[in-house]
Amino acid sequence: MFDSVLIANRGEIACRIIRTLRRLGIRSVVTYTDADADARHVREADAALRVSSYLDVGDVVGAAVRAGAEAVHPGYGFLAENPDLARACADHGIVFVGPPPDAIAAMGDKIRAKRTVAAAGVPVVPGRDEAGLSDDELAAAAMEVGLNAGATVLLKPSAGGGGKGMRRVQDPGGLREAIASARREALGAFGDDTLLVERYIDNPRHIEIQVFADAHGDVVHLGERECSLQRRHQKIVEEAPSPLLGTGPEGERIRAAMGASAVAAARAVGYVGAGTVEYIVSADRPGEYFFMEMNTRLQVEHPVTELAVAIGGRPGLDLVELQLRVAAGEPLPFGQDAVAFAGHAVEARVYAEDPARGFLPTGGRVLLLDEPAGPGVRVDSSLVEGAVVGGSYDPMLAKVIAAGPDRATALHRLDRALASYTLLGVGTNVAFLRSLLADPDVVAGRLDTGLVERRPTEPAEEIPDDVLAAAALERMLALEVPGPGPWDVPDGWRVGRPAWTTWRIAGREVRIRGRAADAEVSVDGAEPVRAAARRHGADLTVDHAGDRTRFVCARDGDVCHLGRDGRVWSLKETEPLAARAAETTAAAGAVRSPMPGTVAAVKAADGDEVVAGQPLVIVEAMKMEHTVTAPVDGVVSGLTVEPGAQVALDEVLAVVTPRGDN
Ligand code: ADP
Ligand code: ADP
Ligand code: MG
Repeated sequence: MFDSVLIANRGEIACRIIRTLRRLGIRSVVTYTDADADARHVREADAALRVSSYLDVGDVVGAAVRAGAEAVHPGYGFLAENPDLARACADHGIVFVGPPPDAIAAMGDKIRAKRTVAAAGVPVVPGRDEAGLSDDELAAAAMEVGLNAGATVLLKPSAGGGGKGMRRVQDPGGLREAIASARREALGAFGDDTLLVERYIDNPRHIEIQVFADAHGDVVHLGERECSLQRRHQKIVEEAPSPLLGTGPEGERIRAAMGASAVAAARAVGYVGAGTVEYIVSADRPGEYFFMEMNTRLQVEHPVTELAVAIGGRPGLDLVELQLRVAAGEPLPFGQDAVAFAGHAVEARVYAEDPARGFLPTGGRVLLLDEPAGPGVRVDSSLVEGAVVGGSYDPMLAKVIAAGPDRATALHRLDRALASYTLLGVGTNVAFLRSLLADPDVVAGRLDTGLVERRPTEPAEEIPDDVLAAAALERMLALEVPGPGPWDVPDGWRVGRPAWTTWRIAGREVRIRGRAADAEVSVDGAEPVRAAARRHGADLTVDHAGDRTRFVCARDGDVCHLGRDGRVWSLKETEPLAARAAETTAAAGAVRSPMPGTVAAVKAADGDEVVAGQPLVIVEAMKMEHTVTAPVDGVVSGLTVEPGAQVALDEVLAVVTPRGDN
């Protein structure tokens, strides 16, 4: 086994790999960029070396050499599926913890991958898999695949990943435009606009098989994971085993067949290490499965396999340990017969995104963090208090995984874990995950990849009165002088009740009189109710009209962050004057950045006359582009950002003054 391993990655996966290295007594070395100088993986590793980018092969291999690492673990994303890193490692006598470069290259190209595995007898999605098709040939292929006969087709970048650049086409009339835009997006994302066309499988479920191969010719599979809960072709919730297959005899038969087919796919490219063979299955015909692609690395959702599978009846599978052992040349320590599901596990991905604003990335500083733990609960996270979540990297912050003897138990534990997931300072999708997991179809295991996007978007809920009261009382607690208040002083300098104080919080009016420990509160002019608050550290206990709630609480300047049950409110307090000034700016058409990110393009200049809806600035953050438009007809001013500039959430990018307003 190795003495020292370099992890060429960041975030939760770097921390997760460090955990296994530590347990095995192996020195962990990580790389980091300037944006990550304080990141958790840097703090946890035994050594950390600066690189210009996680995507720079030369820098990464240079760091491994400098650190004296004998092996490089690439994690997922970044260079994990770049054969150049695997080759560069080999050139420097360093072991790459992953498959041989040729296997990566063969599977990295979807067209080549489908042809290769089809030749090995693996069923692939019907379609045309040929490189170098012109637009006309692609259009003709789409018709052949069934577009003219009422079927839906899918255009995919051959070099694709992360769900980018895919286009579903249902109507021949939209075909040309779909080809053109898929090509544009593929070229931008992968530097290659080669497309393939596939039949779109109706009522699709994403079911993938974990495979493992050693360097001695043994290949096993570790069962499936179902990843049908997706948004924009990206996974949100994954589980093992698949509820479609279950654990009955018919499910076992399909599992064995899919497993054997995945093993054949791995063998077809001389695979070594951990890999995932992704299939699309129509919910209507569970016995029919089609190869989509193979990911030649550890998968984001690998923990559900670790928690649900037992080897020879023993739980505690560690896929990273297995990767390291296989990379060090050890044979697989078990055969196919020893592998079986012993329970159920479900994972939910926690993203820094705002479901109420079209899932745009959020950002900020982690003011308070309390991640769940408990029986059957595991959290793979990259977060620490004080960490800054910016727009430079993928918005996935953590994964919450729950396991149990059966699916209902695992789902229940996951919900409880998410309810106690406390993160203040950075907006997340945790409340959305809880509502998704409570969906009757999800509970029943009736999953398909369209489920998430079919659900109606939940209307932004009005902030409850007791939450507004809590924010105002918290502010009072911080401002109050300890000891009795003026109206408690027995010298009678003041008679009767204290006066009302008005707070403007999140645009609402909260009036309070008394002290935080004994007050009357009225929200938006409603009948006053009795309220009281006490604070112990981050805990804020609030009595409001007789109901007692415990919040966790953190303040950042004039923003009070309150959390309860996996929900978070970030409430900005505005002075009446400041509020008026803000309203004036809004009327003048202040244009704000909807997310932290980088300015990709500037479409207007100061002095331009623009119409409402006209693009002004394009802001980009990991995998997401957003066009900021003029809110009203008028004249642009204050537009100083340039392409490449970093912008913060809500930063004013420009002001559009309505015509005749100046
Ligand atoms: P999976 O099937 O494991 O979700 P994806 O192909 O979606 O695989 O990508 C794996 C993960 O790698 C993503 O969820 C994302 O977190 C990360 N990732 C993908 N591309 C990048 C990238 N260019 N930079 C950083 N992280 C990335
Ligand atoms: P990526 O490399 O981006 O992960 P995939 O080929 O794995 O690309 O496709 C991503 C997702 O798109 C799948 O998880 C699935 O939900 C959907 N998808 C892909 N191919 C098909 C298809 N032929 N029919 C229906 N859905 C598909
Ligand atoms: Mg995929």
